[in-house]
Amino acid sequence: MNLPLADSPLAGLLRERNRRARLLIVDDHPVSLKLAQLTFAAHFDVITADNGPTALALCQQQGPDLVLLDIDMPGMDGFEVCRQLKSNEATRDIAVIFLTAQADEAQETRGLGLFAVDFIAKPLHAAVALARINTHLLVKLQADAIRKLVFLDGLSGIYNRQFFDQQLVVEMARSVRNGLPLALILLDVDFFKRFNDQYGHQAGDDCLREIAAALKASLRRPADLVARYGGEEFACILPETDFSGAMSIARLLEDRVRKKFIPHAGSEVDGVVTISLGVAVRNGALLNQAADLLAAADEQLYHAKHTGRGRACGRLLGAPAQP
Ligand code: GH3
Ligand code: MG
Ligand code: MG
Repeated sequence: MNLPLADSPLAGLLRERNRRARLLIVDDHPVSLKLAQLTFAAHFDVITADNGPTALALCQQQGPDLVLLDIDMPGMDGFEVCRQLKSNEATRDIAVIFLTAQADEAQETRGLGLFAVDFIAKPLHAAVALARINTHLLVKLQADAIRKLVFLDGLSGIYNRQFFDQQLVVEMARSVRNGLPLALILLDVDFFKRFNDQYGHQAGDDCLREIAAALKASLRRPADLVARYGGEEFACILPETDFSGAMSIARLLEDRVRKKFIPHAGSEVDGVVTISLGVAVRNGALLNQAADLLAAADEQLYHAKHTGRGRACGRLLGAPAQP
């Protein structure tokens, strides 16, 4: 007998998340697409695409939980769509199920090798397809919940230090490989001990949440990342950003936090909460260890603290001078 959906673990996860599961159906055949949409609209928030590039764009913009992906499509086929989804950090956690008229062993091997989770035969058998989708959604939402626990900071909701440390190593390796610059910003709230002493620890926590939100809203590129690095310290990774770009972002972050106008009577910088920032940019072959970039940013943060606070200091670590 089927488990009533309302009591299922899937329903519990969806309630916590406060929205229906989102399903993207991709099929170049208009009738199949419409049929699938009608079949699943009662259960999920359904979006559709009739070609690969549109499917990729929708995955980026709308973050579906699961994609039902036709294999045979003109232009970009389903395998290529899956390959691109799985090689992009922003979309790789989306579950992919292939739809196929006749899956042979070679197709299944190839699809599963691309980290698709399943195959569903066309024409769709609605009840079986629904049961399979629900099973895979459960696994996907459980994985989301775990990622959130492991990689997000409980107080501010932005990434935590574990995630930051991991990404810095990834981005450093990428920068060494592709020769493009990599910028790191470390920042620390000014006179925050006094803030806590004067306004209380709860107000201190609220202040950190506001700063985290302001930092996050100020970074625009999809690859930029901000994390809570420690108590009242935050860190940003800015791939493919040169020294002048990184310095202007650091100044923008300083300005955005200052213009939150959070009162801070005990500060010697201003009557409002401010931050100090240290910037280090790798641009060239001189440096290839994440720890060295961190140390350089920390040194610049120290410099900012000792030359007035509420400001950004930075250093470019370039290629060694040519003889
Ligand atoms: P500076 O301008 O030199 O950075 O001075 P500061 O007072 O900010 O630096 P210090 O390192 O002396 O104090 C940091 C304070 O941040 C002490 C600690 O109570 C507070 N803090 C760290 N984490 C949290 C947190 O999660 N919540 C709250 N409310 N306060 C925190
Ligand atoms: Mg500190
Ligand atoms: Mg501080």
